[in-house]
Amino acid sequence: MQHLPPVMSPAYVAMDDLCDELSRLADAISDVSDWPSQSLDLCGQRGVYRWFLPEDQGGYGWSASDQIRGYLRLAQADLTTTFVITQYMGAVRRIAASGNTAVTGEWLESLASGKQFSTVGISHLTTSRRHLKRPVLRAEESTDGYILDGISPWVTGAPHADLYVVGATLPNSEQVLLAVPSTLPGIKAGPGHELVALSASCTDQVGFDRVHVNRTMLLNGPNENVLTSATGIRTGGLQTSTLAVGLAQAAVNFLSSEAANRTDIMDAATELRQEVDALAQRLITVSDGDTDCDASQIRTASNRLALRSTQAALTAAKGAGFVKGHPVGRWCREALFFLVWSCPQPIAQAHLCELAFDNHS
Ligand SMILES: Cc1cc2nc3c(=O)[nH]c(=O)nc-3n(C[C@H](O)[C@H](O)[C@H](O)COP(=O)(O)OP(=O)(O)OC[C@H]3O[C@@H](n4cnc5c(N)ncnc54)[C@H](O)[C@@H]3O)c2cc1C
Repeated sequence: MQHLPPVMSPAYVAMDDLCDELSRLADAISDVSDWPSQSLDLCGQRGVYRWFLPEDQGGYGWSASDQIRGYLRLAQADLTTTFVITQYMGAVRRIAASGNTAVTGEWLESLASGKQFSTVGISHLTTSRRHLKRPVLRAEESTDGYILDGISPWVTGAPHADLYVVGATLPNSEQVLLAVPSTLPGIKAGPGHELVALSASCTDQVGFDRVHVNRTMLLNGPNENVLTSATGIRTGGLQTSTLAVGLAQAAVNFLSSEAANRTDIMDAATELRQEVDALAQRLITVSDGDTDCDASQIRTASNRLALRSTQAALTAAKGAGFVKGHPVGRWCREALFFLVWSCPQPIAQAHLCELAFDNHS
């Protein structure tokens, strides 16, 4: 196999090579049958999964702002693969931060190298099925660990995972976070829903039919809020916004290239370019901890910009952009994803108000 130099910093030339290749492969990533294994392998060979881990755990120890720079580049090249990586790294970082040496010893290196794949099923503790009386994934204590019963409704890469990091609720309402090998008896992963966009992320529910998980696989808990109590992990961080801004950058790049020959779209391209560059810079500054961070404000602005810039790109691409296979049509559908992905209620409410009340009339 050809040796590919790792991307040890966002400024490395190898980053350009990686993104060019991901962008080239992205055109063939569309349906549930297109799980992006080639792109994920490429990222493993280029050391992408080590960006997010500290050096003493086999990573490159990238700063928070370098991680944002990295995700901005990847998301511009291929949103589906980048989204899968966020869920994969969500699992890896929770494992790394857990302090559970049995799990880190057995799994961390093979996950960091890309030899094995892990993903998270935690949204039912935050933004999914919260209105139901009964938790959708329940845990009960057994003599040697926990028995899981129910479903994890949203798990990206569900049929391809070697290990799930899932949250579950105990009868006393406390929660546990467990690392669960996908080979345990009683686990059934769906093949992936056909979605409005990102179908190749193979996102589906995972069913747990009284699955016995040994206590050695406990990552956090039991406690009242197992996701926020985990050390070193921030929920509701800037990563979702970063992917939205990366998508907006892809759309603005297209608009700028069209504007080179079409003066009629020059003003729109310039305006959107300034806005997207400013928001990307704000993400980087905030991730460095330089200013007070209002993550919800940034998230709302990023969602809006992703929707506006992809639709501006479609308007410029005209009917040609509406033909299946043109990247601009795909970007428009992908922008809708940010309205539903890990979208806290206040942000959803802000979008609903904006859509319902026309401030221009
Ligand atoms: C493509 C994709 C990939 C994802 N990947 C992952 C992943 O890898 N890991 C992960 O943990 N999560 C993942 N998620 C989950 C995501 O972050 C959100 O949690 C999810 O989009 C919330 O949607 P929901 O339909 O489950 O919400 P719900 O709140 O469960 O809403 C479902 C339905 O319930 C009804 N409803 C909602 N609220 C109420 C109410 N208050 N009263 C009465 N009825 C109500 C509505 O009819 C609504 O359509 C993913 C989501 C998507 C779309």
